Amino acid sequence: MRKPIMAGNWKMHKTVSEAKALAEAIKQGAANVSEVDVALCPPYTALAAVGEVVAGTNIKVGAQNMCALEEGAVTGEISPLMVKELAQYVILGHSERRQYFAESDERVNKKVQMAFKHGLTPIICVGENLEQNKAGETVEFVGGQVRGALQDLSAEQVAQLIVAYEPIWAIGTGLAAEPEAVNQIIKESIRNVVAEQFGAEAAQALRVQYGGSVKPANVAGFMAQPEIDGALVGGASLKADSFLALIEAAR
Ligand code: PGA
Repeated sequence: MRKPIMAGNWKMHKTVSEAKALAEAIKQGAANVSEVDVALCPPYTALAAVGEVVAGTNIKVGAQNMCALEEGAVTGEISPLMVKELAQYVILGHSERRQYFAESDERVNKKVQMAFKHGLTPIICVGENLEQNKAGETVEFVGGQVRGALQDLSAEQVAQLIVAYEPIWAIGTGLAAEPEAVNQIIKESIRNVVAEQFGAEAAQALRVQYGGSVKPANVAGFMAQPEIDGALVGGASLKADSFLALIEAAR
């Protein structure tokens, strides 16, 4: 049985003081939740402050990205060595990183390997754009992203990681995908692909989130699907009441 995981991707929102206030409010409602894993992913600048707020609770912290290198002359980047002192999870390959910062599957794979080297659990984002969706290329494209991201990992590592299936056209648009369609895509482009390369056990163990305009009004439909193990949430994670409602729905 896979444990659901609700992760809030705060993106480029919340100053340190705002992040602390939001984490406090989420802590009030979710400190002791044990049936669902909860992760807050603030900007790098607020990782330490949010970590302090949720210390001693069941709530965990995640970064939204990290560099594929451990240290060096890479101005403006944040290394896995820095992230691992502050977080347990790291979101990798979000479509906004791929789109605005030209992150390739190869780069994402390097970061995934770094995450495992340093004891971080990666949340690997995959998903097709509207054009690919309309052209019926979703399963092939997403399958390719999964193969690329998981290159050279062991079955044990794959079993531990999290994949977030996030169709780009559903992110921040209010236009969520259909739960049944998502379930089928996850089966064909994630679990089957993982089963082929890493075996059935790893394919059944890894957790797969849906992301893209998840909100309290539609979350139950996603959680009811057998292949969906939680959500990666942007907009609805920026307010404590809506994020708490999502956690409640996943319990
Ligand atoms: P959204 O973002 O919930 O605002 O659509 C999801 C994401 O990009 O992770």
